[in-house]
Amino acid sequence: MTSVEEKTIFEKIINGEIPADIVFENDIAVVIRDINPQAPVHVLIIPKRRIDRIEAAQDGDTELLGKLLIMARDFAKSHNLTEFRLVINNGQQAGETVPHLHIHLLSGRSMAWPPG
Ligand code: 5GP
Repeated sequence: MTSVEEKTIFEKIINGEIPADIVFENDIAVVIRDINPQAPVHVLIIPKRRIDRIEAAQDGDTELLGKLLIMARDFAKSHNLTEFRLVINNGQQAGETVPHLHIHLLSGRSMAWPPG
């Protein structure tokens, strides 16, 4: 896993150093389309301030974390999505590949449970 000191791909996207399909941005987060979509709709809600992963979140991050979920709600609403899944991967075995907290929003197909 990338060390904390290294800039993540998401920090480079947030800083405008590499391109991304940014579908929404505000002062706290960006919403981008995933480069390797796993569903017809697959976006990532990424806080601009890096938290490595949910286990690294502090009690003081409560408001930020709540706002990220509200952004997911707003994305779904503005795209008329009523069936969708939100995912946060914490750790390699859980599927985490970028050590910068993000929420996946997937929609547009039926999904299995439990996830693989
Ligand atoms: P994780 O596996 O950490 O939960 O999610 C990382 C996600 O970031 C993956 O779904 C992967 O496809 C996506 N991703 C990795 N690199 C890039 C990139 O350069 N641009 C975009 N838009 N998505 C990326």
